Amino acid sequence: MNIFIGGAWPYANGSLHLGHISSLLSGDILARYYRAKGDEVLYVSGSDCNGTPISIRARQEGVTPREIANKFHREFCHCFEKLGFTYDLYTRTDDLHHHEIVQKIFQKLLANNKIYKKTVEQAYCSTCTQFLPDRYVEGTCPHCGKDARGDQCDECATILDPLDLLTKRCKICGDEPAGKDTEHFYWSEHTC
Ligand SMILES: [Zn+2]
Ligand SMILES: [Zn+2]
Repeated sequence: MNIFIGGAWPYANGSLHLGHISSLLSGDILARYYRAKGDEVLYVSGSDCNGTPISIRARQEGVTPREIANKFHREFCHCFEKLGFTYDLYTRTDDLHHHEIVQKIFQKLLANNKIYKKTVEQAYCSTCTQFLPDRYVEGTCPHCGKDARGDQCDECATILDPLDLLTKRCKICGDEPAGKDTEHFYWSEHTC
Protein backbone atom coordinates (compact mmCIF):
# COMPACT_ATOMS: atom_id res chain seq x y z
CA MET A 1 0.00 0.00 0.00
CA ASN A 2 1.17 3.57 -0.71
CA ILE A 3 1.08 5.82 2.36
CA PHE A 4 1.50 9.59 2.17
CA ILE A 5 2.19 11.49 5.40
CA GLY A 6 2.26 15.29 5.25
CA GLY A 7 3.69 16.50 8.56
CA ALA A 8 3.14 20.00 9.99
CA TRP A 9 5.43 22.70 8.55
CA PRO A 10 7.20 24.58 11.38
CA TYR A 11 7.46 28.35 11.00
CA ALA A 12 11.09 29.50 10.46
CA ASN A 13 10.87 32.59 12.67
CA GLY A 14 12.16 31.14 15.95
CA SER A 15 13.70 28.09 17.59
CA LEU A 16 11.70 24.90 18.09
CA HIS A 17 10.44 24.13 21.59
CA LEU A 18 9.12 20.91 23.09
CA GLY A 19 5.53 21.71 22.01
CA HIS A 20 6.63 21.81 18.34
CA ILE A 21 8.36 18.46 18.66
CA SER A 22 5.32 16.83 20.28
CA SER A 23 3.13 17.89 17.33
CA LEU A 24 5.71 16.71 14.75
CA LEU A 25 6.57 13.39 16.40
CA SER A 26 3.27 11.65 15.56
CA GLY A 27 4.03 11.77 11.81
CA ASP A 28 7.40 10.14 12.35
CA ILE A 29 5.88 7.36 14.47
CA LEU A 30 3.30 6.68 11.74
CA ALA A 31 5.97 6.65 9.03
CA ARG A 32 8.05 4.13 11.00
CA TYR A 33 4.98 1.98 11.67
CA TYR A 34 3.96 1.72 8.01
CA ARG A 35 7.55 1.13 6.83
CA ALA A 36 7.87 -1.66 9.40
CA LYS A 37 4.66 -3.19 7.96
CA GLY A 38 6.27 -3.17 4.53
CA ASP A 39 4.18 -0.35 3.03
CA GLU A 40 5.58 2.25 0.61
CA VAL A 41 5.81 5.48 2.65
CA LEU A 42 6.29 9.08 1.48
CA TYR A 43 6.75 11.25 4.55
CA VAL A 44 7.26 14.94 3.73
CA SER A 45 7.40 18.28 5.51
CA GLY A 46 9.47 21.45 5.48
CA SER A 47 10.10 24.85 7.00
CA ASP A 48 7.49 27.56 6.44
CA CYS A 49 9.77 30.37 5.24
CA ASN A 50 7.07 32.90 4.23
CA GLY A 51 4.92 35.27 6.25
CA THR A 52 4.70 38.38 8.37
CA PRO A 53 6.32 37.07 11.61
CA ILE A 54 9.54 36.35 9.66
CA SER A 55 9.66 39.85 8.12
CA ILE A 56 8.92 41.43 11.53
CA ARG A 57 11.75 39.50 13.20
CA ALA A 58 14.07 40.43 10.31
CA ARG A 59 13.25 44.12 10.75
CA GLN A 60 13.87 43.90 14.52
CA GLU A 61 17.28 42.27 13.97
CA GLY A 62 18.25 44.46 11.00
CA VAL A 63 18.71 41.53 8.60
CA THR A 64 16.78 40.26 5.56
CA PRO A 65 13.78 37.87 5.90
CA ARG A 66 15.80 35.36 3.87
CA GLU A 67 18.59 35.38 6.50
CA ILE A 68 16.06 34.69 9.29
CA ALA A 69 14.45 31.86 7.32
CA ASN A 70 17.85 30.36 6.44
CA LYS A 71 19.04 30.49 10.05
CA PHE A 72 16.02 28.67 11.50
CA HIS A 73 15.68 26.23 8.60
CA ARG A 74 19.29 25.16 9.25
CA GLU A 75 18.55 24.90 12.98
CA PHE A 76 15.42 22.78 12.34
CA CYS A 77 17.33 20.41 10.03
CA HIS A 78 20.02 20.02 12.68
CA CYS A 79 17.42 19.26 15.41
CA PHE A 80 15.56 16.71 13.25
CA GLU A 81 18.82 14.96 12.40
CA LYS A 82 19.84 14.78 16.08
CA LEU A 83 16.37 13.53 17.04
CA GLY A 84 16.48 10.87 14.32
CA PHE A 85 13.39 12.04 12.40
CA THR A 86 12.92 10.00 9.22
CA TYR A 87 11.49 12.43 6.64
CA ASP A 88 11.76 11.20 3.05
CA LEU A 89 11.82 14.84 2.01
CA TYR A 90 12.21 17.89 4.24
CA THR A 91 12.12 21.07 2.15
CA ARG A 92 11.05 24.72 2.51
CA THR A 93 8.19 26.90 1.23
CA ASP A 94 10.51 29.27 -0.68
CA ASP A 95 11.93 26.38 -2.69
CA LEU A 96 11.23 26.57 -6.48
CA HIS A 97 9.85 23.01 -6.51
CA HIS A 98 7.43 23.94 -3.71
CA HIS A 99 6.28 27.10 -5.55
CA GLU A 100 5.55 25.11 -8.71
CA ILE A 101 3.52 22.42 -6.94
CA VAL A 102 1.54 24.89 -4.82
CA GLN A 103 0.75 27.14 -7.80
CA LYS A 104 -0.42 24.15 -9.81
CA ILE A 105 -2.81 23.09 -7.00
CA PHE A 106 -4.00 26.69 -6.53
CA GLN A 107 -4.72 27.20 -10.25
CA LYS A 108 -6.65 23.92 -10.37
CA LEU A 109 -8.78 24.88 -7.34
CA LEU A 110 -9.46 28.31 -8.85
CA ALA A 111 -10.39 26.89 -12.26
CA ASN A 112 -12.82 24.47 -10.60
CA ASN A 113 -14.47 27.11 -8.39
CA LYS A 114 -13.27 25.40 -5.23
CA ILE A 115 -11.97 28.71 -3.84
CA TYR A 116 -13.25 32.26 -4.14
CA LYS A 117 -12.07 35.78 -3.36
CA LYS A 118 -13.64 37.76 -0.52
CA THR A 119 -12.92 41.22 0.92
CA VAL A 120 -12.56 41.27 4.70
CA GLU A 121 -11.51 43.90 7.21
CA GLN A 122 -8.16 43.33 8.94
CA ALA A 123 -6.05 45.33 11.40
CA TYR A 124 -3.64 47.65 9.55
CA CYS A 125 -0.92 49.80 11.13
CA SER A 126 -0.31 52.95 9.10
CA THR A 127 2.92 53.67 11.03
CA CYS A 128 4.40 50.26 10.13
CA THR A 129 2.55 50.38 6.74
CA GLN A 130 1.45 46.76 7.01
CA PHE A 131 -1.43 44.46 7.94
CA LEU A 132 -0.91 42.91 11.36
CA PRO A 133 -1.23 39.19 12.18
CA ASP A 134 -3.82 38.67 14.96
CA ARG A 135 -1.28 38.20 17.73
CA TYR A 136 0.51 41.44 16.77
CA VAL A 137 -2.49 43.44 17.93
CA GLU A 138 -2.83 43.93 21.70
CA GLY A 139 -5.43 45.74 23.77
CA THR A 140 -8.30 45.40 26.22
CA CYS A 141 -10.54 42.31 26.19
CA PRO A 142 -14.19 43.32 25.49
CA HIS A 143 -15.41 40.49 27.79
CA CYS A 144 -13.31 40.79 30.97
CA GLY A 145 -11.56 44.16 30.57
CA LYS A 146 -8.05 42.69 31.06
CA ASP A 147 -5.07 42.98 28.67
CA ALA A 148 -5.41 40.58 25.73
CA ARG A 149 -3.78 39.60 22.44
CA GLY A 150 -5.72 39.92 19.19
CA ASP A 151 -6.19 36.16 18.79
CA GLN A 152 -7.35 35.34 22.31
CA CYS A 153 -7.66 36.55 25.88
CA ASP A 154 -5.51 34.46 28.25
CA GLU A 155 -7.45 35.84 31.25
CA CYS A 156 -10.96 34.63 30.27
CA ALA A 157 -9.96 32.22 27.43
CA THR A 158 -12.22 33.96 24.86
CA ILE A 159 -11.23 33.58 21.20
CA LEU A 160 -11.10 37.11 19.78
CA ASP A 161 -11.02 38.99 16.52
CA PRO A 162 -8.31 41.68 16.88
CA LEU A 163 -10.76 44.37 15.78
CA ASP A 164 -13.00 43.49 18.77
CA LEU A 165 -10.40 44.69 21.30
CA LEU A 166 -11.56 47.85 23.07
CA THR A 167 -8.24 49.66 22.92
CA LYS A 168 -5.93 48.47 20.18
CA ARG A 169 -2.19 48.91 19.81
CA CYS A 170 0.31 47.58 17.30
CA LYS A 171 2.74 45.21 19.05
CA ILE A 172 5.60 46.46 16.86
CA CYS A 173 5.34 50.26 17.27
CA GLY A 174 2.62 50.81 19.91
CA ASP A 175 0.41 53.00 17.67
CA GLU A 176 -3.28 52.29 17.21
CA PRO A 177 -4.08 50.15 14.14
CA ALA A 178 -7.29 50.67 12.15
CA GLY A 179 -9.49 48.31 10.17
CA LYS A 180 -8.71 48.19 6.45
CA ASP A 181 -10.17 46.12 3.61
CA THR A 182 -8.06 43.32 2.20
CA GLU A 183 -8.72 40.43 -0.20
CA HIS A 184 -8.27 36.76 0.71
CA PHE A 185 -9.16 33.45 -0.91
CA TYR A 186 -11.67 31.21 0.89
CA TRP A 187 -12.78 27.62 0.38
CA SER A 188 -16.09 27.35 -1.41
CA GLU A 189 -18.88 25.61 0.47
CA HIS A 190 -18.77 21.80 0.41
CA THR A 191 -15.08 21.81 -0.64
CA CYS A 192 -13.71 20.81 2.73
ZN1 LIG B 1 -10.94 38.46 28.57
ZN1 LIG C 1 2.85 49.62 14.01
